[in-house]
Amino acid sequence: MNIETLVGEARPAVFWTDRDGGPQTASTLVGTAYADLVIVGSGFTGMWAALQAAEAEPGRRIVVLEAEVAGFGASTRNGGFCEASLTHGLFNGLSHWPNEIRTLNRMGHENLTELFATLDRYGIDAHAERTGQITFAVAPWQVDDLREGHEMSLEYGESSEFFEEEAARELVNSPTYLAANWDRDGGVMVDPGQLVWGLRRACESLGVVFHDNSRVIEIESTPTTLDVRTSAGLVTADRVLVATNAWAEPEKSIRNFVIPIYDHVLMTEPLDAAQMASVGWQGRQGLTDAGTQFHYYRLTADDRILWGGYDANYYKGNGMGPSYEARTDSHELIARHFFDTFPQLEGLGFSHRWAGPIGSTSKFSAAFGTKHDNRLAWVAGYTGLGVGASRWGARVGLDLLDGIDTERTQLQMVRRKPMPFPPEPLRNAVIQFTRDQIAKSDHNEGQPTMWLRMLHKMGVGFDS
Ligand SMILES: Cc1cc2nc3c(=O)[nH]c(=O)nc-3n(C[C@H](O)[C@H](O)[C@H](O)COP(=O)(O)OP(=O)(O)OC[C@H]3O[C@@H](n4cnc5c(N)ncnc54)[C@H](O)[C@@H]3O)c2cc1C
Repeated sequence: MNIETLVGEARPAVFWTDRDGGPQTASTLVGTAYADLVIVGSGFTGMWAALQAAEAEPGRRIVVLEAEVAGFGASTRNGGFCEASLTHGLFNGLSHWPNEIRTLNRMGHENLTELFATLDRYGIDAHAERTGQITFAVAPWQVDDLREGHEMSLEYGESSEFFEEEAARELVNSPTYLAANWDRDGGVMVDPGQLVWGLRRACESLGVVFHDNSRVIEIESTPTTLDVRTSAGLVTADRVLVATNAWAEPEKSIRNFVIPIYDHVLMTEPLDAAQMASVGWQGRQGLTDAGTQFHYYRLTADDRILWGGYDANYYKGNGMGPSYEARTDSHELIARHFFDTFPQLEGLGFSHRWAGPIGSTSKFSAAFGTKHDNRLAWVAGYTGLGVGASRWGARVGLDLLDGIDTERTQLQMVRRKPMPFPPEPLRNAVIQFTRDQIAKSDHNEGQPTMWLRMLHKMGVGFDS
């Protein structure tokens, strides 16, 4: 069967939520209400913030306002790689915050430990598999990069094992693999749908009030309160945390720092025993390849392969919406790459295809901001690594709202904003040009072009 047919037969729906078991849609906000804390956005950041705030101060009136339904954004559409890194990987962190990287790494591991302790406490079964993550070199120039990365990881106390070509293919069987790095402690594979749904229930058990289909259109400041408006209601609040990630609303200044990058994902039909045997992959690790434009892939509980990444797209004016998610050419491109990687699976069908907006910053890591004397804070832009980091980001957001100095709020990563993106039409032109330059670099043995070298010097990049 050809690629067009295989992709065409996949259901345009997010696998992780295309099943029973989700919470009921919460009521729309109608009329007026009062809250100690309003959270805008019901993804991982919003829910981790609600949970941590409710645990810290039982009885606090917390209201979460969501434009659609819980987890509608990136939080249910991702690959489920729940990693310790708060900085989109060690090397990105090192390049931006060399003096803080050891602290950030420690905080990242603590965050991951506390995250799973919380899931145990509330009985949330996110189908966690502590497999770690393997990065494969798929072009000769990536082998030395991978070896260098392995040595650097060890220097910074991270787990890393390097595998030459033959040993790499014993881990997972692909003719494209030339070497591998396995970070055994860096990542846990989770089911993001179950995680979102479990967090929602845990928050509700602590008295947090959710309103779905309640898009916040404006936040107005009075001398003592903040008025949070939707089209049908108003919540007067002491404090507001904006956790809308790629949407970068309703606080307009977020748009200077956060852009939506659409990433496409395919899910295969379940592999049978012979197909599983043909790929090896006994360790069930999360996998990526080592180019700047990279794929990520992992197994599900029922032995499907989730395959995503590579073709990350920005649309003019921070463009978002369903029309950008239905790009057949992106799904077909990554489907071709899937069969290049696993030719032994030829003919395997895809059950689902979807896309989601990744909130990205020029430093590939979360950005933070405050307004109205710290009564409003925002957290957004984990780039492609927010499943674990969003719990930490939410904690930082709450610290900022409390106006307290903590080890977290003292970090340069928190205090200094990333370089803003230029306004349109320059924004689109710069991003598309950078994207082309990255593709050129990947096809030229990873040699950065002059433009990419200049961006690097300015502390700016472009990634998913
Ligand atoms: C395809 C894809 C794959 C990814 N893979 C991984 C991965 O494997 N590992 C990893 O660590 N990270 C991954 N990520 C990133 C990760 O999913 C995100 O960083 C994380 O989910 C961000 O959570 P969030 O709550 O900040 O944002 P979101 O989950 O996007 O939530 C924002 C919410 O705000 C709501 N909202 C927007 N505007 C308003 C408004 N005005 N009023 C009320 N509500 C509003 C939205 O509807 C949405 O529900 C991936 C992302 C995508 C898209």
